[in-house]
Amino acid sequence: MRFPKNLGLIDMRKTEQLVLDAINGGINYFDTAYIYPGSEEALGAILEKHRVREKVYIATKLPIVICRGPEDFDKFFDKQLKRLRTTHIDYYLLHMLTDEASWEKLCRWGIKDWIEGKKKSGAIRQMGFSFHGIQNEFLKLIDDYEWDFCQIQYNYAGENFQAGVTGLKKAAAKGLPCIIMEPLLGGKLANNLPREAAGLFKKANPQLSPAAWAFRWLWDQGEVTLTLSGMQEPAQLHENLALAAAAVPGMLTAGERETFRKVLALFNASYKIRCTGCNYCMPCPRRVNIPACFAAYNTSYSMGLVQGMQQYTTSTGVTSEHTSGAGLCVKCGNCEKHCPQHLPIIASLQLVRKRLEPFWYRALIFLARLLFKPHGRNPRGSGNSPAGLAGKA
Ligand code: SF4
Ligand code: SF4
Repeated sequence: MRFPKNLGLIDMRKTEQLVLDAINGGINYFDTAYIYPGSEEALGAILEKHRVREKVYIATKLPIVICRGPEDFDKFFDKQLKRLRTTHIDYYLLHMLTDEASWEKLCRWGIKDWIEGKKKSGAIRQMGFSFHGIQNEFLKLIDDYEWDFCQIQYNYAGENFQAGVTGLKKAAAKGLPCIIMEPLLGGKLANNLPREAAGLFKKANPQLSPAAWAFRWLWDQGEVTLTLSGMQEPAQLHENLALAAAAVPGMLTAGERETFRKVLALFNASYKIRCTGCNYCMPCPRRVNIPACFAAYNTSYSMGLVQGMQQYTTSTGVTSEHTSGAGLCVKCGNCEKHCPQHLPIIASLQLVRKRLEPFWYRALIFLARLLFKPHGRNPRGSGNSPAGLAGKA
């Protein structure tokens, strides 16, 4: 999901180098999904080009939220094999299985027979599910089928969120390997910690980056089988390889645990909207850049209001003709259905607008546009035009 990108598209040159360096460094598990734009194709092309398919395990996912019936299982699976240029998937997951009712619906559609058939033919080697629901549902789901593995969101800022530590321990006690997603909470635990929190980490150990602290928190727990770390840069890859090589369960000291407790208190005070930047809610039909709005809002608490407003202005182009700011939302609700964090996106966008587009700010933009309005433009404009935004102001 987090392959290096350029203008929104996967940067194949950088991605190819990163994947090859990862394999050479000993990484053998690559996680992708049908719905990650261009990701399966990119991975398949790189593995085929360098003839390294057999050196790695591929994990990918059935997009159950867009399955309309049992015929879609094969339709998506066959397409995935083609995209990944392979004859089999090593680790196949039901993507975003959130509750028992969804599992029962899939069972009525014959998913169990379908899985058994694929495993028998060797097209699927291990079967699991990725989870973004509430803990009770996770505890039921792990007993509902003979899964080979499961995948949960887990990090030091969300020890009791979704499946949480209870889910992790219950799954591990059943012998179910646990793959961890969002170990850095969409990068927030690496790059967006409040200054004071980052300072606490640095003071405790100047050699470790905030990302390193977050990984070590996970690897300290013996129940964690594997972390999906979403690396984008060679430096991140090399840092992670070195950290992983030195990781052993139970490695955290009492002093380090105390540092986590203090950092978490600061982080929670600034992380107001718990968006991970996964983009599942996108695109918005009104072109609202939802994750960018939430990232700027959180920055306004972690780094200060001025920095948050600056980030909002540049990342949503709220002063330009092609804005993607929170004010464009028409509350259609499309996005909320897809958010794995179950965020109240519509209400949260209103908070963003109130804080980052205060009345005086919108009035300034309105005046600026009146003064500097380019010739020949429709003065009323559309929702995305300056006049459209000014109308809302
Ligand atoms: S509710 Fe608002 S943000 Fe969400 S998809 Fe609709 S217009 Fe876009
Ligand atoms: S609002 Fe939800 S779906 Fe959208 S980017 Fe954030 S976490 Fe992902």
